[in-house]
Amino acid sequence: MGARLGIDLDGVVVDFSGGWVSRYNAEFGTNIAVGDVVTWGAPRELTHFRSMSRFWSWARTCGDGRSLFHVLEPYPGALAGLDSLVAAGHDVVIVTTKPNFAIRDTHEWLVRHEIPAVEVHIVDDKAAVDCDVYVDDAMHNLQSYRDRRPDAVVVRWVQPWNSAVVGALDATNWDEIKKFADMLGRA
Ligand SMILES: [Mg+2]
Repeated sequence: MGARLGIDLDGVVVDFSGGWVSRYNAEFGTNIAVGDVVTWGAPRELTHFRSMSRFWSWARTCGDGRSLFHVLEPYPGALAGLDSLVAAGHDVVIVTTKPNFAIRDTHEWLVRHEIPAVEVHIVDDKAAVDCDVYVDDAMHNLQSYRDRRPDAVVVRWVQPWNSAVVGALDATNWDEIKKFADMLGRA
């Protein structure tokens, strides 16, 4: 039997940074580079919004009237990576946190991109979802997984806005994720 992988969307499968930066630049005539996004608070620090609540208020309709989450693109290789997990007999469980206004766009995005998920959890408390492997890019989620899921493999998806977490493995590509899952596949 394969492993059950709890996989985050934004920052792992979905290019949240690239998406908001290109929308923002197009709308406000700025030249923010995706490479400038190196901290968790970048939407507040690099824009004129100056607060996350003002950023989210913009994100609610910045996608041609739909939310930002409607127009985000997957990272190169992400969809093939998820397919390779499923082909190897593993279960993909989406574990993501979204603002309420993005719930419908998130489900629609998952269908439009044919994400092969056996379950989709849109939750604030990610560690409440039971998985064998967790993949996330946010320090607070990685720490929470590590603290509350001692038997699970916790994988930090390496991004400029995170750093090593004690007890978590690092991954930069889907082959590494598959290797961790294969090693853990339940007999
Ligand atoms: Mg994330």
